[in-house]
Amino acid sequence: MATRLCIDGQWTEAGGGALPTRDPATGRVIEEVGTASRSDVDAAVAAARRALTAPAWAGLLPVQRAALLFRLADLVERHHEELARLETLDQGQPIGVSRQVSVTGTAEHFRYFAGWVTKLQGTTNPVSFPDTLHYTRREPVGVNALITPWNFPLMILAWKLAPALATGNTVVIKPSEVTPLTSIRLVELVHEAGIPPGVVNLVTGDGAVGALLTEHADVDHVSYTGSTAVGKLITAASAASNLKRLTLELGGKAPSIIAADADIDAAVAGNLAGATLNTGQVCAAYTRFYVDRKREQEFVDKMARGLESLRLGPGTEETTQLGPLVSAKHREHVDFLVSTGREQGADLVTGGNPVDGDGYFYAPTLFAEVRDDMAIMREEIFGPVLAVTAYDDSDEPLHRANDTEYGLAATVWTRDLRTAQRYADGIRAGAVFVNMPPIPDMAAPWGGYKASGWGREMGPWALDAYTETKAVWLHYGG
Ligand code: NAD
Repeated sequence: MATRLCIDGQWTEAGGGALPTRDPATGRVIEEVGTASRSDVDAAVAAARRALTAPAWAGLLPVQRAALLFRLADLVERHHEELARLETLDQGQPIGVSRQVSVTGTAEHFRYFAGWVTKLQGTTNPVSFPDTLHYTRREPVGVNALITPWNFPLMILAWKLAPALATGNTVVIKPSEVTPLTSIRLVELVHEAGIPPGVVNLVTGDGAVGALLTEHADVDHVSYTGSTAVGKLITAASAASNLKRLTLELGGKAPSIIAADADIDAAVAGNLAGATLNTGQVCAAYTRFYVDRKREQEFVDKMARGLESLRLGPGTEETTQLGPLVSAKHREHVDFLVSTGREQGADLVTGGNPVDGDGYFYAPTLFAEVRDDMAIMREEIFGPVLAVTAYDDSDEPLHRANDTEYGLAATVWTRDLRTAQRYADGIRAGAVFVNMPPIPDMAAPWGGYKASGWGREMGPWALDAYTETKAVWLHYGG
């Protein structure tokens, strides 16, 4: 039997059939997952609309709503190992990453935003009207569709769900059809925590189910993380329906600039981590490297050795450093881009091939002598594929790094503060990391410039995404 949908607190059979979800380390089907029909989606949105003003949710005091989120964080921690194993089974990520990044990050997010519930403030404003009190209040945006990708399914859902609930919203979750299992389990924990029925609804299925939500006239806000191509479809669907608000966390192609004075061993270690975490399936993964020509050979040699030393294996094995790619289809995409690198004349230093066997493994791959116009330098690969080029003049890497449609993250490796600051100022990206891998934190804004998206998640910036500001004009004169 296929997994069920959660609508108004009830687990109900999906009306649109089912799709399998697979273990990427073996290709084996783990479970059939229900596909929501149009009427399931309508019912989920209607339940979220009713719950928005229901006394059981809207009538809670801030301390009560905060307590529910703290309880949810505790439940995530209580089920830490179970959730980590489920994420690894469905997504493929090494168990250490599931534990430390995915599940710990999820609990921390709920706890962080639980703290915000009692700290949401408005302002009083000095309007130039006599006898008028002017103040603002922050109100929930309403019914939110949370549409998530397959690379960090549980944690990215927490990035959205925690601030949505902290600000009094209701939601319909649509996880990726490739990795739905931890989202389903989290919705069970949401109800165990005591969050009232209808506040958090879940519809599973593929992009067509996501599209039903983005076209829906009674959804107020879509918070979406995924590819830029689908982000554009969602923007069109919003414009064609009710002009719903959008938060878009889209693709990336993060540049890494390695200056002549960089500590190369530290740069190799940091870039290796930044490029291969979760098998490179990270929106902020470092993938194109601009290295001062004086250090290029040393960097390429050490990076190749680092990549070759990574232990490939199923995520369930404690010693695995590089797990499989998420699906057969995605591995084909990675392999296709690698073949374009070869055909366009880049120098393949190591890797460049799928690994034989049942799972979706791919050899970590390094290209050198890459030109800026090659597909491997321009397109998001979302796999363990690195492209290195050299520069001669320190003015060069800035405009070459910015020559991209994306602007999510970037990194600079240098021992000189002036160089660090100059590049950090000049790079057009939502996050610039100096001498460190790309690690998001719930207290720091996360989001992109240009085609990497609209809006910011995390920190107080996420509260803006889920609230409307109402201005109240209170005339008390005669
Ligand atoms: P995807 O765009 O294929 O799918 C993402 C989600 O959108 C899935 O739930 C999918 O079912 C749904 N979807 C597909 N078509 C839809 C449509 N027409 N309308 C509504 N929903 C639809 O992305 P993916 O392949 O799952 O994830 C990888 C992408 O996500 C990469 O581009 C990566 O950079 C991006 N990403 C970005 C961030 C960030 O913070 N900016 C974080 C993680 C991943």
